[in-house]
Amino acid sequence: MTELRGIAASPGIAIGRAFVYQEEHPQVPQYKISEKKLEAEKERLSAAVERASSDIEGIKNSSHQDLEQDEIRLLDSHLMMLQDPSFFESVYNRLEQDLLNVEWVLHQTVRELLDKLSQSSDAYLRERTADIHDVSKRVLNHLLERDRNSLADLKEERVLVTHDLMPSDAVAMNKRMVRAIVMDAGGKTSHTAIIARSFEIPAVLGLSTVTRTVRDDEQVIVDGNTGVVIVDPDQETLEKYQKILNEWQEHEVQLMRLNSLAAETRDGKLIFLKGNIDIPEEVDSVISHGAVGLGMYRSELLFLRPEGLPSEETQYEAYRQVIEAMDRRPVTIRTLDVGGDKVTDRLQAHDEKNPILGWRAIRLCLSEIELFKTQLRALLRASVHGTLRIMFPMISGIQELNRALDILEEVKAELRDRNVPFEEDIPVGIMIEVPSAALTSDILARKVDFFSIGTNDLIQYTIAVDRGNERIAYLYEPFHPGVIRLIKMVIDNAHAEGLSVAMCGEMAGDPVASVVLLGLGLDEFSMSAVGIPEVKQIIRSISLAEAEELAGNIMELRKSEDVDRTVREYMRQRFDLVVY
Ligand code: PEP
Ligand code: MG
Repeated sequence: MTELRGIAASPGIAIGRAFVYQEEHPQVPQYKISEKKLEAEKERLSAAVERASSDIEGIKNSSHQDLEQDEIRLLDSHLMMLQDPSFFESVYNRLEQDLLNVEWVLHQTVRELLDKLSQSSDAYLRERTADIHDVSKRVLNHLLERDRNSLADLKEERVLVTHDLMPSDAVAMNKRMVRAIVMDAGGKTSHTAIIARSFEIPAVLGLSTVTRTVRDDEQVIVDGNTGVVIVDPDQETLEKYQKILNEWQEHEVQLMRLNSLAAETRDGKLIFLKGNIDIPEEVDSVISHGAVGLGMYRSELLFLRPEGLPSEETQYEAYRQVIEAMDRRPVTIRTLDVGGDKVTDRLQAHDEKNPILGWRAIRLCLSEIELFKTQLRALLRASVHGTLRIMFPMISGIQELNRALDILEEVKAELRDRNVPFEEDIPVGIMIEVPSAALTSDILARKVDFFSIGTNDLIQYTIAVDRGNERIAYLYEPFHPGVIRLIKMVIDNAHAEGLSVAMCGEMAGDPVASVVLLGLGLDEFSMSAVGIPEVKQIIRSISLAEAEELAGNIMELRKSEDVDRTVREYMRQRFDLVVY
């Protein structure tokens, strides 16, 4: 028995026999050609490219594949790569220069490009190397006249063990037969991880040596919740995991039954459960877990890429993609929140002693007006494609909010002058994550349409405890009476002005905190997609009156540890929750 630990990339547990998918490494011949043969070599390449394109069209059109939007986009991007003139120009130039056979020239050109990309500091770019590798291998196989073996023909349920999975293999594979995926390579944002999550196939990636450890047909346990893979388990381990698997499946079935049901308390208070996302590809999972909207799309990932700041057009496309995919469900996009712990060279103050208290988020946007206006233009233009709400991060007081709202009005006026359509009455809200905003929330509430409480930062600033510092992590207490009082104050002030209040910090997705937050009057909880069913189950099995009673009781307590103990005890007794 061998236990390996990797990245828990897609949740769930599976036990099954391994199918070790060996990537072939074709031997590429190298030989000289005469100048007379140049045209013939170019034609061989075009023919191979054409066949590779029709393979991809074939996968797209094959009737036994239920392809998701993501997968169709991926195949389309491969088709586009096959039509990219600049790449083929570099192959042709080299062909003319070296006078070597075309498969060798293609192989070398791709290798150099992959080397360059794999050294990039950007995870997104590094992971795109898989697409280039995939497309070029398909062309190479046609040049070498070899058939590529396919995962589409998998006939029985197996745990797929592989070094890496070409994106088109992941798309083409017979997913019904794949119980789990384990890989040497891959990270949380790789295509394989995204596809595994959207098909709810458990996956553990980044295992480095799993293909050397597992033999074909060997028994494997995959725990996608914890990132553990056990090869050739002993009887005791097998029985233990069989039990965990049964419990997990039962739990999932129970929770998924709730998907189409509303998050409504027993006495009829309707709560909105929404998803938080960092990249557009997460939208499918948000919908499949029963979210009624997006509570926070952190737009900053678009700005943290090495190729520089995104143009208005790039932003517009990304926002439109998310809004359309959410299909008229409300989408809250947060404007740029860089600085502090989220830095990029282009937007960084290098001389700050306290970056967390420094030039970040809305402060940065208000001094880089063109950058801010570009984002607002892209957002307003995208607003016509569905139901969009704009949210400003890190607002600390009314003057800052007024300035941001003035700039939004200026951008609207400019678009009106140019006859560019946008949603005139687009709702605008702010994050409440700075104590001064919470303390003046009665004033701020008169100026906006909604609040969303960002507990990750609100706790950090209220208790003066760096959220990333392990040494003082014991002070980071969501149930600190100071934090609870601020949350209550924000909710009461908002309700007095008729505003609804969301929470998008991690506390909103913590099942232990659900009843307290409900009792404090929270209207909307926004969290990572997988957390939604559990919180929904809690909300549906309690009344608002009970929740208010618990919240009322803890408001009387003086110490965090008393609040913590009272809430955990309550949740342990009242629900079948594993509470630590
Ligand atoms: C928060 O502060 O709670 C929040 C949601 O924002 P972020 O974690 O992106 O700072
Ligand atoms: Mg924050």
